[in-house]
Amino acid sequence: MRLREYQAKTILARYGLAIPKGQVICSVDEVAAVMEAVGGAVVLKAQVPVGGRGKAGGIRLANSLPEAEAAVRSLLGSQINGYTVAEVLVEERLEIQAEHYLAIITDSAAARPLVMVSTRGGIDIEEVARQEPQAVVRLIPDPLYGLGNHQALYLTKKAGFAQPLAGLAADWLKTLYRVFWESDATLVEVNPLIVTSQGGLVAADARLIIDDNALFRQPSMSPWRDLTADEAMAEAAHINYLALDDGDIGIIGSGAGMAMANMDQVAYFGGRPANFMDVGPGINDGGGRAAMEILLGRTNLTAILISGYSGARLEILARDIVAALASHTEVRLPIVVRLQGMGDREALEILRQCPYPNLHLTPEFDEAARLAVQLSTKK
Ligand code: GDP
Ligand code: MN
Repeated sequence: MRLREYQAKTILARYGLAIPKGQVICSVDEVAAVMEAVGGAVVLKAQVPVGGRGKAGGIRLANSLPEAEAAVRSLLGSQINGYTVAEVLVEERLEIQAEHYLAIITDSAAARPLVMVSTRGGIDIEEVARQEPQAVVRLIPDPLYGLGNHQALYLTKKAGFAQPLAGLAADWLKTLYRVFWESDATLVEVNPLIVTSQGGLVAADARLIIDDNALFRQPSMSPWRDLTADEAMAEAAHINYLALDDGDIGIIGSGAGMAMANMDQVAYFGGRPANFMDVGPGINDGGGRAAMEILLGRTNLTAILISGYSGARLEILARDIVAALASHTEVRLPIVVRLQGMGDREALEILRQCPYPNLHLTPEFDEAARLAVQLSTKK
């Protein structure tokens, strides 16, 4: 889960790290009050869950209320790096002398946190890292010990911070490491980190990505999750659903491996899978019904392929399929079902009784995928 800047900053502030004064808004009417509270010049920042906004025109400066309102008007509803802007963060404008960079990410090769520090932060940090790798100082601490004082200070000094900033930045790093660890993050990044005129540090921008597999134990993140209605339905039914943008053949598999094999098979026969869907974990909780509701609600599908070979009783899945079809009499989509395993005889009997006119049963794994592609209405 990728937090937006203001959400990431909220977490940082909980750990005592300084963030600029400001507030997130979602309409132009709110600008005046926030500007009043902030006092003086502001920066207006499009809230999308990815970086690179500066380069994409998502960061605006304003000195007056009309300027700020004009900026918010043009930001709201615009597209920044593939996301529609629905919120704008209005913040006090910081005087920027230098832009520093602090980050901790999960290094997948090392399977450990990687701590990075640079005094050359800002919107070109990727370029700096590429052209002058030594300008970004790195360390992979042992996660059993965490990030030690000596390591944090080594990093900030080697990156070129002079005292007392080196010590201050090292304290920030250690706190960020706690944020990273305690939030189950895969990334925490402050870029730019700004030095104030009083010599303190402020996070002008912050990013935080939480490992989705750990969200169940991060209840403080749940208000910020923005699941689609389909994703919420899948989660409630304990099934795993991932929509794919460019496909049109719906997939339901009785396990993750099965679903992926079905996707491969559909592609092999020249079709394009519309999703990944594993109903296995939710088979006894209405997972099959939810899976069908999700796919039948998608208007762009040309066929559905359902494949079950599971330890769970397949007649439960069959009943869910029939019930879903009975409540969607408007649907005409070809649906190919292949069930083999526990309860398959009863399941197939249930499906044979189903009055849905475009239901096709086949015992073969390959044949099911081939048939789904052949029958799919998009040719
Ligand atoms: P990103 O491009 O998505 O990472 O967005 P940032 O929040 O990092 O903003 C990009 C750049 O805008 C920063 O590197 C700064 O140069 C500039 N910027 C952001 N906030 C302020 C601010 O308060 N004052 C000034 N002068 N510049 C800012
Ligand atoms: Mn940034």
